[in-house]
Amino acid sequence: MTSPQKQLIGTRGLLSWGTLRFAHPALADLHLPYFDIVADAPGPKLAIIAGMHPNEVDAMEAALRLKAHFAEHLLKGSVSIIPVLNMPGLFEHAEFVCPIDGKNMNFLAPGDPAGSFSQVLVHSVLHEWAAHAEVFIDLHGGDLREEVARFVMCQMTGNAEFDQRTRALAHQFDADSIVEFASDQTSNRGRATNELPWLGRHAVMAEGGANGVLDPGCIEFHFQGVANIGRYLGLTDDQAPAARRRNNVVVSNFGKVEAPISGRLYLEVAAGDRVAAGQRLGRLQDIYGDPQGELLAPHAGLILMVVNHPIVNQGEWLISLAPLPG
Ligand SMILES: [Zn+2]
Repeated sequence: MTSPQKQLIGTRGLLSWGTLRFAHPALADLHLPYFDIVADAPGPKLAIIAGMHPNEVDAMEAALRLKAHFAEHLLKGSVSIIPVLNMPGLFEHAEFVCPIDGKNMNFLAPGDPAGSFSQVLVHSVLHEWAAHAEVFIDLHGGDLREEVARFVMCQMTGNAEFDQRTRALAHQFDADSIVEFASDQTSNRGRATNELPWLGRHAVMAEGGANGVLDPGCIEFHFQGVANIGRYLGLTDDQAPAARRRNNVVVSNFGKVEAPISGRLYLEVAAGDRVAAGQRLGRLQDIYGDPQGELLAPHAGLILMVVNHPIVNQGEWLISLAPLPG
């Protein structure tokens, strides 16, 4: 595997930044922004990406803060950051997908060098740019029509020692919930955080934000979780934050609640809510405003994501609901 070429723009202390160019011909026109922070002493490498979904602005903002944080505090090892992965979608505010091939990169890991643009990009990022990272961190949260709880995803593999390390990394975040995907689950695959552990690599993915709006609490959530990972790995010795304020409720998976019709949905729940089995999640109407039934919780659980735009399409993934134990 070749490393991406770096076209340097500037340096300041331990920090350097510029644009990444990948060798694969499908990516010939792509210029990705990067930050590198490299300490004098050797140590583990962190790889951090944001902006796979380029309206998820809290994650992208946190990436900028993390650049400054590690430039100030890094004692050993290195941190590499891509603050906007989906550059082709950034200035057109593309929702969920990369406009070059219409694919959602979030479900394409581990990537495919023989595939289309997004598949090649995911492959190049995971296997070239982040090839030697101790941890791959993927920051997300709240595209234009959605709101997510503050939660973290990580994948269990059945290797107890490896999983314990992954779990410890995920729990560095101060979250509503930690999704420790069960090793035998098959309904949530294709995220980098789902696929890298099967290749022997640690990965965590954080979600926090809503509607493309900057939210100081969600920016802090992303920033502090990654800063905590840096300290946990011994890369930094900055002051740890005060005690946790959230619960890190552990769940093993989540499912989708889909829109039963195309029409209007008047939601009665929000991300982070707990619901009972059969509880009404919202009321449905057709486009004339006539009642078309209710959306009910298929089981008790914790709501991790809601689409909060009232116009919905039949079959659309509206709500992520994590079953709660007990
Ligand atoms: Zn996202």
